[in-house]
Amino acid sequence: MLVRLRESRIGVMRRRAHLRLVTSSEPGGTFLAAVLDGEDLAEELGLDPHARVTCGLHRRWLHQCVGSPDHVIPVTGHRWCRPCRRPLDVVVDGTTARLFCPRCGTGTPDTAANRQVVRACRTSIAASSAR
Ligand SMILES: [Zn+2]
Ligand SMILES: [Zn+2]
Repeated sequence: MLVRLRESRIGVMRRRAHLRLVTSSEPGGTFLAAVLDGEDLAEELGLDPHARVTCGLHRRWLHQCVGSPDHVIPVTGHRWCRPCRRPLDVVVDGTTARLFCPRCGTGTPDTAANRQVVRACRTSIAASSAR
């Protein structure tokens, strides 16, 4: 138990070191880093991870990495077309994100999970340009 605790602490420290490394080389990285840290903490305290505007995995604004396969979550239905059982494509422009199923082509499958993805991306786009 003690060993496990120590390992998880090291994991956290490594993650933070990586964050500093990435953000220090990017203009505007300080603001992103602050929001990332705030949302990491909020998530530990109960914030829904899908409501985040930053990505806890890729350490970026959500709309910058929402197209990654890591953001397809069949279990919860995020970025997922249930009838076709396949991931939705994402198109991000200056103000919003759109989800498309490449198979059934009916636009964004209108589920609570997919609406949440679009809403979080919109907030992320606005936040990233609001400085
Ligand atoms: Zn991500
Ligand atoms: Zn479909």
